[in-house]
Amino acid sequence: MAAGFRRSCGCSLQVLRSISYFGWRSQHTKAAPQCQPGLGFNFEFTEQQKEFQATARKFAREEIIPVAAEYDKTGEYPVPLIKRAWELGLINVHIPQSCGGLGLGTFDACLIAEELAYGCTGIQTAMEANSLGQIPVIIAGNHQQQRKYLGRFTEEPLMCAYCVTEPGAGSDVAGIKTKAEKKGDEYIINGQKMWITNGGKANWYFVLARSDPDPKASASKAFTGFIVEADTPGVQIGRKELNMGQRCSDTRGIVFEDVRVPKENVLIGEGAGFKIAMGAFDKTRPTVAAAAVGLAQRALDEATKYALERNTFGKPLVEIYEGTAQIQRVIIAREHISKYKN
Ligand SMILES: Cc1cc2nc3c(=O)[nH]c(=O)nc-3n(C[C@H](O)[C@H](O)[C@H](O)COP(=O)(O)OP(=O)(O)OC[C@H]3O[C@@H](n4cnc5c(N)ncnc54)[C@H](O)[C@@H]3O)c2cc1C
Repeated sequence: MAAGFRRSCGCSLQVLRSISYFGWRSQHTKAAPQCQPGLGFNFEFTEQQKEFQATARKFAREEIIPVAAEYDKTGEYPVPLIKRAWELGLINVHIPQSCGGLGLGTFDACLIAEELAYGCTGIQTAMEANSLGQIPVIIAGNHQQQRKYLGRFTEEPLMCAYCVTEPGAGSDVAGIKTKAEKKGDEYIINGQKMWITNGGKANWYFVLARSDPDPKASASKAFTGFIVEADTPGVQIGRKELNMGQRCSDTRGIVFEDVRVPKENVLIGEGAGFKIAMGAFDKTRPTVAAAAVGLAQRALDEATKYALERNTFGKPLVEIYEGTAQIQRVIIAREHISKYKN
């Protein structure tokens, strides 16, 4: 047993050593100082990261939590909270500095997402969907596209959306049927998108469409990514879906009927869309996971609070159930974690 433990420790050290040897660096806003071979990782947050985390935590606890239940009940879009998050710099954090943004990395965005989701994942989803819409332009937009479509988010609290899913294609992105046909200097888009977060609030959409009608064309060549202004004629916004959770985020179907998009709004070029759509997930899925951590932490905190407060059969709930010892261990562990965090 002990030998096995030593063996596994040795193996982890080996992995850490080789990663640091090959120049691992974090996804921090600024590159982490180079690690010396053999010294391993530095998990310490930068001062800026601590500041963002503290600001997001304060905002979630003082401004989101008191109103979250009401937004969840009514399904109303949380406009005042979005404006406040925008003022605090907790939204649109990936926008490059060249466009007037903060240019934060995925790790920084995760720290913020975790805190906001602790407050309410519906409100956090509405805010986070902006990153999903913006990332295709950040990773694939040219200078003019970035200045035009990202720069405006630094001037006012606008929203955008990522339009990929369709009624017949979700996980299977290559199965989308929305078509883009080139006519002169424009593309004509026809099709239907579904489950689009911020669908009815967006200023513009990232839209993935099939530009090669050949059914044998490979996914890496058949699709094109477009920036589509929401007020373009032919964009029809569907009703707000009544979600089972995250009810105040704005989820809708969008129909594109003969929507004319100038060729200047193509990202990279015809056929590059699939890679861009997938590349956006690489940068945004970690924040979805971080938000799940925030939600889980909140669930644990609420359950613990209730089990300590609620009395039944003359005792606090925490003392009633079998497994009390486990709950107490969780509470003790939680106290240790919060001491560590503070
Ligand atoms: C609240 C909400 C917001 C959303 N926002 C957006 C948005 O902003 N933009 C956007 O484009 N889309 C959005 N979506 C759509 C979301 O990305 C899709 O729901 C998701 O991709 C899954 O697709 P689907 O619902 O069609 O499920 P399906 O693809 O039909 O999958 C059904 C089930 O089968 C499983 N499954 C599928 N394929 C496989 C496989 N190969 N192996 C094993 N299991 C498999 C899935 O995990 C799932 O459990 C949103 C969805 C929701 C619910």
